[in-house]
Amino acid sequence: MFLKISSLYDSHVHWLGTGQIESGLKLFHLRSPEDVATLDIKPSYFRQEWLIGFGWDQNLWPSTTLPTKAILDRYFPQNPVFFQRGDGHCSWLNSLALQRLGYDSSHSGILFEDDHFKAYSSLPTQADEQLRESLKTATRMFNEAGFTHIRDMTCNEQQWNQAVSLDNDGELSLYVQENFLCERPQDLESVLSQARKARGQQTKHVTVQGIKIFFDGTLGSDTAYLSKCTCSSLKSAWGQTDIENLISRCWSDGFEVAIHTIGDEAAHQVVSIARKIMATNKITGWLNLEHVEVLRPETLQMLKALHVRCHMQPCHWLSDRLWLQEKLGDLYKYAFPWGPISRSRIPLHFGSDSPVARISFWDNKKALSESVNFDIQELKGEILDYHCFFPPAAGTYSIFEDNNLKELHFDGVRII
Ligand SMILES: [Zn+2]
Repeated sequence: MFLKISSLYDSHVHWLGTGQIESGLKLFHLRSPEDVATLDIKPSYFRQEWLIGFGWDQNLWPSTTLPTKAILDRYFPQNPVFFQRGDGHCSWLNSLALQRLGYDSSHSGILFEDDHFKAYSSLPTQADEQLRESLKTATRMFNEAGFTHIRDMTCNEQQWNQAVSLDNDGELSLYVQENFLCERPQDLESVLSQARKARGQQTKHVTVQGIKIFFDGTLGSDTAYLSKCTCSSLKSAWGQTDIENLISRCWSDGFEVAIHTIGDEAAHQVVSIARKIMATNKITGWLNLEHVEVLRPETLQMLKALHVRCHMQPCHWLSDRLWLQEKLGDLYKYAFPWGPISRSRIPLHFGSDSPVARISFWDNKKALSESVNFDIQELKGEILDYHCFFPPAAGTYSIFEDNNLKELHFDGVRII
């Protein structure tokens, strides 16, 4: 059976990370921490002397406890090692890496959330040429999965320059909406000025959309901000006034705001702040809620007065289903609320969160159909109502036959 889709859109991706991980050291297959002994290490896995890897998950190991620095010290005594967990919110380091980052010798070797992001952003960056290759690798991966449009969540100045240059050289077969990542409140003004500069350099395929921040963490690592929770309390770099300032500054500059909100309380607080700003400052703009894995009905009601888009990744349900009920308890009835959101007429878009999950329209389709058997409310309408870019780009479509991509046309040219 053939299916033709116009302007297939992934509304939440990490473009550069997708390419970096594809060409870097992959740890998805580790079945115990000791399996690092079997890794075949290539020179391209290093950034300067740092060995970087991605994809381990202790939940797949016989003992699901977190690994320790001692194992990495044993096999990689010469180089600082930074191995990111597959959810992108945690990292496993050896003693040399900890020492370089200023941690003392009593540290376990596991960094979470803010500590993890801070460490990640202080790693040596890729050279321009290497970064450009990673963007091209990821572009090919999106195209091969049938995608012609992405919304990227992790732009910075170096990436922006390479993306624009790729497009100017005719080497970009993707429409990209860029969001600049702002990690800490104190970086906001400098990130805004990068975004303003970028706005003057946009191309046909690379545009600036806004600023992205993390407010909470993930359900898998117990760092989502939930209203009912026995897990650790929220440890966010962003307080209420920081978020207020972020939203007003972005809106007055004409940028959108994108906020990572997985837990119901994270979404509720952000939405309350946005409403307050609209009411008191008399300014408005778009607020994008990222992931929205748990949403209370009263928060959904409050969304209606705002310009809000929700960006969800049904494929995350496929991986979270095993422990979701146990972890959420009473809140389970509000989990993965694409049903209520799609019925509320709030704009809703689907994506993959690649490289956290693989790029696949079909995985999302599978999650939507299987989840109804687990008391997740059904989506209103068709998946394609939420997976295509609007307005569609002329001559830009993909053709699938039985879930396999057969053709991809970009701006009127067949490229696959
Ligand atoms: Zn993400």
